[in-house]
Amino acid sequence: MSELDVTVVEHGTRGTGQGVGGSRQGIGPPSKCKCPKCGTTVSHTPNIPCSTIKCPKCGSPMSGA
Ligand SMILES: [Zn+2]
Repeated sequence: MSELDVTVVEHGTRGTGQGVGGSRQGIGPPSKCKCPKCGTTVSHTPNIPCSTIKCPKCGSPMSGA
């Protein structure tokens, strides 16, 4: 259980189960949008602005991080 052995964690990310595991290096903008109203975060396609996505909980337009 060494914290340095992270090779197995690739498929273990909790969330939407997308194939994005190594976001430590800061590649591009964050692939998540946040609801300014209730704070819900959702993952999204990087090319799609967050403002076009509605919050699944309260229906407000999401805001980009
Ligand atoms: Zn919301």
